[in-house]
Parts: sequence; C-alpha cells; structure tokens
Amino acid sequence: MKFMLSTQERERTAWVTRKASELGFDLSGVAPASRFPELDKLGEWLDRGHAGEMRYLHDPRRLSLERAMEGAKSVIVCGASYRTEEPFSTQVLARPDGERPRGWISRYGWGDDYHDVLLPRLRALMAAMRQEFGEEFRAHAYVDTGPVVERVAAKYAGLGWLAKNTCLINQNLGSFLFLGAIVTTLAFEPTLGLAEAPPRDLCGSCRRCLDACPTQAFVAPYVMDPRRCIAYFTIELRGSIPQEFRPAMGQMVFGCDICQDVCPWNQRAARRGPATLGRIPEFRPRLIPPEEAAEGTQIDASPRSLFAPEIEWIASLDEEQYRRVFRRSPVKRAKYRGLIRNACVALGNSGPGLIPESRDRILRLLERLAASPDELIAEHARWALDRLNAAAPSK
Ligand code: SF4
Ligand code: SF4
Repeated sequence: MKFMLSTQERERTAWVTRKASELGFDLSGVAPASRFPELDKLGEWLDRGHAGEMRYLHDPRRLSLERAMEGAKSVIVCGASYRTEEPFSTQVLARPDGERPRGWISRYGWGDDYHDVLLPRLRALMAAMRQEFGEEFRAHAYVDTGPVVERVAAKYAGLGWLAKNTCLINQNLGSFLFLGAIVTTLAFEPTLGLAEAPPRDLCGSCRRCLDACPTQAFVAPYVMDPRRCIAYFTIELRGSIPQEFRPAMGQMVFGCDICQDVCPWNQRAARRGPATLGRIPEFRPRLIPPEEAAEGTQIDASPRSLFAPEIEWIASLDEEQYRRVFRRSPVKRAKYRGLIRNACVALGNSGPGLIPESRDRILRLLERLAASPDELIAEHARWALDRLNAAAPSK
C-alpha cells in the first residue's frame, strides 16, 4: 500500500510539472510543506525593523506553510522568466543621454502586472489538478502578496539557490524570475529526494552585487535592509524619500535592477541567448501609444516602451495619462504622486553631461512641478532644482 501511495505521489509530481510547463512556466517543483530553516530567521529580521512600511511582511502565517494552510502537505512552486533581450540597466545608464536623459523602470515593470498574468495560470493548474486527481483536497495559489515566502519554498522545490543579493538564482535562467506557489493538502513526492540537498549556492567568493549597490543596502551577504533599497524608496515608500539617499538613486524611477544586472549568472544567461528568455509574451516591454506622450517631450517615430523611457516624459504625465499608460502595469503600485516624486529625483540627478538646452527645459519642467499643490511632488522638485542648479557649469 505504501508503495502504491508513493508511486501515485511520484506520478502526481511528474504530471504537475508537465502541466506547469504547458501553462508557460519555465520552472516548477514540489516541496513538502515543512518548516524551512530560513523562515526561522524572519522574526529577527523583522525585529530589526527591516520591513519598513511593508506591514504585510509581519503576517505570522509567513513563518510556516502549516500556518498558511492547516493540514498543508505540499507546496508547488512555479517560476516564469521575465528576462527579455533588452540590455541591462548598468549598460544603458553607463552611457548617459545629455539631450534626453533616460530613466530606469525595473525590468519586471516593462510588461503586464505579473500578479494578473501568473495567478490565472496557477488557478488553471489547480483546476486541472481537480480534474486529474480524483480526491478531495484544498489548495490556494499565491503570487507575492500572500503569506508564502515563494523564494524560500522555491529553494526547497529545487528551483535554485538563495543568493547573496537575496534573489533566487537558477543556474540556467538566472534571477529574473517571477515565482508563484500553490499550497495544498494533497501529497506529492518532493522534487528533491529525501537525501538530496537543495541546489548548491554558487555565489562562491563573488560579491559583485554587494559592491555595486549604490545605497549599500546589504548589511551582510544574504541580508538586505529594504529601508536602504532604491526599490523600496521608489515603489513601497509613500512619503518623502530620505535626502541622504537621493543622489545615489541616479536615474531609477521605479525599482532598481543593479544587484541583478551585475550578477554573472544573469550575464551568463544573457550570453546563452534566446534559450534563456522568458516564454510569456505579456512580460515583454509594453508599447506606449504615441498619443500618450506628454506635451513638450519628443515623440519617436517608433512607439516608445517602458524600457529606459525619457524621464521628462514620466515627469510630465498628468494623472489621467498615468492611469492609461500604467493600467495593466505593476508600475501602478508606486501611485501617481510616488512616480512623479521619483522622476523629480531622477531629473535632479541628470545634471552632469546635460546639454544647455536640455538643462533649461528640465529646469522649466521642475519649476512647474515645484508649484504643484501636492507638497510631496513640490518638495522633491525643489530638491531637484537645487541639485541641478548646484551642478550647473560655471559661465
Ligand atoms: S535593488 Fe538596487 S538599491 Fe536595492 S539592493 Fe539591489 S542594487 Fe541595492
Ligand atoms: S553577483 Fe555574485 S554574489 Fe551576488 S548574487 Fe550574483 S553570484 Fe552571488
């Protein structure tokens, strides 16, 4: 009987990973719903205040899958690569455009909102499971916002290792991965056998991510303090960005990819070409119709995308345009006033190398924003004006 059950569990695992691939996932695996050692350190990390304003990280159900679902036996973890052919932030921003300074939207923000893309696929997988497996079970799908720490579960499902930059890295695909999980009361054979360890940590002596972080957000290898991270400032933080960090934010307007872009495992994946690109078309850069370009910005003959857009274009969007452009995009999480705040900081940092006409145009735009009735926008615009004026070449 035990043998029968184990065979059935093995067949379920083979079936579910095949089905996940059919649904567009690049990776999948199953881990037992046991306590993962990494989650035991979560409390200490929270006690140090690292979660900042992200209250959802304090949800006690995140400490173990059994707390997330009573009676849970397995977690199915699915990964979808969102790496596209466009170059890395480090390559683009190393060549500043003195005429039309470019901003950086994190790679994950170029396409459709990953929650909206992955959840229906996970739900389709659960529906297929109900058809395939003739027994009652409970199952719940999570993408990032629930009480499941997907990247930790992904490690124990054999998808990759938890790297010094705190991302999950898959040896073949790198770290530009969206992860989703299904917690279920159904028993599966774990992808990693009983005696098998999770994928080996291949960071070795490398510390490129730690050294490249512009705001020194890593308090130690494998430990990041989000309260120093540009992604936190530009996406999660609702109020004023601490002034001490603004110069180091450079041209980042939504998120920051630096600690992933410098990683040799992502560069290796990029060199290996199209075989390591994501398969889900919704994650490719969204095209912005030219009519959404704001007055005063240059409209290219070709449609623009959210890949390295002009900062002035973002800073000039009105609230209605913002809503239309980012309707299906994860960028909407920053909210209108947050994104314009970020664009002000990026414009303030664009001083070195600007040609005089562009400087004048940007100063006019910032003066307009400094008169905004929204004090958050106005204050960041005033800061940017001061910084640009301080960087002005002497006549
Ligand atoms: S996302 Fe940017 S700011 Fe945040 S830890 Fe990585 S390199 Fe540092
Ligand atoms: S840059 Fe180096 S240390 Fe950082 S995650 Fe990549 S391999 Fe690991």
